Amino acid sequence: MVPVSLINADRLWARLMALAEIGATRAGGVNRQALSDGEIEAWRRVIGWAQEAGLTTATDAAGNLFLTLAGRDRAALPVLVGSHLDSQPTGGKFDGAAGVMAALEAVVSFAEGGETPRRDLIVVAWMNEEGCRFAPGMMGSEAFTGARGIEAIRAVRDTSDISVGEALDRLHAAFPDLARKPLGFMAAAYLELHIEQGPVLEAADRVIGVVTGIQGKKTFQVVVGGAEGHAGTLPQQERRDAVAAFARMAAALHAEIGAIDAETKFTIGRVTIEPNAPSVVPSRVTFSIDLRHPDNGVLDAAGARVEALCHRHAPPCAVTITPLVDAPSNDFDSELRERIARAADDQDLPAMAILSAAGHDARHLAKVCPAAMIFIPCRDGVSHVEHEWAEPEHVAAGASVLAQVMRDLAFANQPSAAEA
Ligand SMILES: [Zn+2]
Repeated sequence: MVPVSLINADRLWARLMALAEIGATRAGGVNRQALSDGEIEAWRRVIGWAQEAGLTTATDAAGNLFLTLAGRDRAALPVLVGSHLDSQPTGGKFDGAAGVMAALEAVVSFAEGGETPRRDLIVVAWMNEEGCRFAPGMMGSEAFTGARGIEAIRAVRDTSDISVGEALDRLHAAFPDLARKPLGFMAAAYLELHIEQGPVLEAADRVIGVVTGIQGKKTFQVVVGGAEGHAGTLPQQERRDAVAAFARMAAALHAEIGAIDAETKFTIGRVTIEPNAPSVVPSRVTFSIDLRHPDNGVLDAAGARVEALCHRHAPPCAVTITPLVDAPSNDFDSELRERIARAADDQDLPAMAILSAAGHDARHLAKVCPAAMIFIPCRDGVSHVEHEWAEPEHVAAGASVLAQVMRDLAFANQPSAAEA
């Protein structure tokens, strides 16, 4: 039996399921990509729930959504809590939405109880975490923390040639009455609840994951340049076949990078071949590399090896390697981690420390304020699929732990690290 006195677990579940109807797919999933009609509708629903509870609502230039329970001390920095409302095209009901709805449920429960926190409690839904319609993702949290400029973000286009700027203007036009916050502001802390998206909690039979950090990630775009030729007439030894070079590189990368250790995760997920014709020797191959490891030293060494292996196996073709993402692994704030562990313990919820294998907006927030994450299990450890599932009691447990930590931070009188 999970104590959930700090929140209304039934209301949280009902709202999470109502939200999942927006962009619902036939196989039970959700297609609610960033800045789509579906996301606008989700905003409308969430804003309605917030206003019903007396929260103030606002957005910023990056299309982040803020729902605020006002605190009594105007000089105290706010506590930010949230996740994202956008999904993959064949996403599930819980990735992102669970975190936003758990934070909202906590704040609505405080407001209902007539409790006024010392600090503003701000529920946030970050714009475009998923990065499928507009790549790469985490645009809202990157703009908020200054990791990426808003003009560069606005210039990104989707496959229909619609820019983020156009889509953002459309979002803002749909909510003309929404107040506008400046882009980026100081916060005392950031908290995010998320489904684990992996199998660790389920296998260990734990309900709460106290996230220690997010594993580091590097991505590259590799372009192999060869020369076009007739598949029947060009002598084999004279060819500069870009697919042959790619095949050598891919085999060597998988064999050598994959053999570093069990924690190394190496993926070539996208390959494009030009001219991609059956009877033409390929002149160009462009491929992606996604490399992850929890240890920054190993990650850096593996990244250097990726480049060396590409250069070794490219000849007689040319190769250019462009680093795209270079996000070192991070450690979440130790004091916040302790508070999460204590809250789980207080509520008799089995908890464990866990490293996040996936990226989250919290990675960016951790650069500007103390940040931490709470994981809850998801069935079979699967996510980014339509049958993604979290048990109602696990959602309630995570939200209840989140609510206790939010209460610790927002109702206490001591100054935050940033104020001291
Ligand atoms: Zn997510």
